[in-house]
Amino acid sequence: MESFQRGELCPSLNGTDLYPETSLKNFSRGKGNQAQQPPPPQASCTPSSVISCPICNPRSSWDPDALGLAYCGVIHRDLKSLEQDMAPGDTMAGHMENPRGHEKSNQEGHIWGSMRNTTLIQGSGLLLLLVFWNSVTWHLQRFWDASGYFCQTQWENLLSTFEGYEWILYHIGVILVPGLCFWGFSGLLLLVDTTEKPTFISRYRIQHGKNEPVDPVKLRQALRTVFFNQNFISIPMLVIYYPFLKWRRDPCSRELPTFHWFLVEMACFTLLQEILFYYVHRLFHHPMLYKKTHKKHHEWTAPIGVVSIYADPLEHVFANMLPVLVGPLAMGSHLSSITVWLSMVLITSIINHTGYHLPFLPSPEFHEYHHLKSNQCYGVLGLMDHLHGTDTLFKQTKAYERHVILLGFTPLSESIPDSPKKTSSALGPSGLFPHQ
Ligand SMILES: [Zn+2]
Ligand SMILES: [Zn+2]
Repeated sequence: MESFQRGELCPSLNGTDLYPETSLKNFSRGKGNQAQQPPPPQASCTPSSVISCPICNPRSSWDPDALGLAYCGVIHRDLKSLEQDMAPGDTMAGHMENPRGHEKSNQEGHIWGSMRNTTLIQGSGLLLLLVFWNSVTWHLQRFWDASGYFCQTQWENLLSTFEGYEWILYHIGVILVPGLCFWGFSGLLLLVDTTEKPTFISRYRIQHGKNEPVDPVKLRQALRTVFFNQNFISIPMLVIYYPFLKWRRDPCSRELPTFHWFLVEMACFTLLQEILFYYVHRLFHHPMLYKKTHKKHHEWTAPIGVVSIYADPLEHVFANMLPVLVGPLAMGSHLSSITVWLSMVLITSIINHTGYHLPFLPSPEFHEYHHLKSNQCYGVLGLMDHLHGTDTLFKQTKAYERHVILLGFTPLSESIPDSPKKTSSALGPSGLFPHQ
């Protein structure tokens, strides 16, 4: 094992005469320039530790006690960066007298160091996230396996009971179950809106003073349209949907989807609905279509749950139904996934129209703002609005600050009160009614 004394060059440089002006002796004595003095050996170096020189020659070894770990590193880094920086015809001596070379080298070293640290931190973070995610899905999968076995058995029992009449199961799954979810939830909200009881719920109302109580004439008219849309549009569409689904893949097949596939399906349905609903909805806001179609839905500037499907028939087909039905057809989904999806869509839509920002439920502020202003917030999640910049005014409002899941019982209108000047509306600047 070779070892070297302080003041000697690394063997790969020594003798090659590449940098005759910059032997360590010249460098360390530095023509009287203290800034060029090499740093002292690091405290961590011990006489017994011998390390390989990582730059010039991995096979030779350096005695850090004699030469110093930092000393070796600094010299090699400086020589190499100077060599790279040299213009043709330059001399090494000239560069050594120019401190900017060292500054640049130090900066590069700093940047590379930062990048290395960032990569290390991000890599560790990603690894932790992966481990955490795997752990979560593993637990959920275990739960799913346990309950999935039960569900699979029940589903097979149902299939054998309805053997030859699977279409009945289909209609229960796409009409009866989502219908019960819709009327169960919006029925409860109707009770609250018409009786104003329990009184504490009014604290969570987004537009205070609106629908307290709800106008009975307006409500009856809305209910008539909702019944019409459900019975004469939604149900016929779902009946016609069945042969298309069967053509794609039998929705009543024996095997239920796995938990992971179910999650993938829900994510794809949600994304497809967000994209399609955004563009169709925005099209219905075009002046040529708005007055004859979509204005009906916007009669409720302060909506209530049941008006989530209060819409013109054309709008109900293209904006409410099709964006929801495209996903399951495209993916050839199982009836169980379609039932969960349709029920989820109806409940989410009711929440978006409740007019209350209730604890532990998704925030309805985004769609409430759309009902009030008409030219903002066309999507469901807000993803497309973010991409198209159709939520810029919304983002300047108190409603945006309140657009979170309320994880307590203090209403957000109390914890994030309106600005003193904006007494009439927390939902932003007025005068933004392009269609009214
Ligand atoms: Zn709406
Ligand atoms: Zn609209």
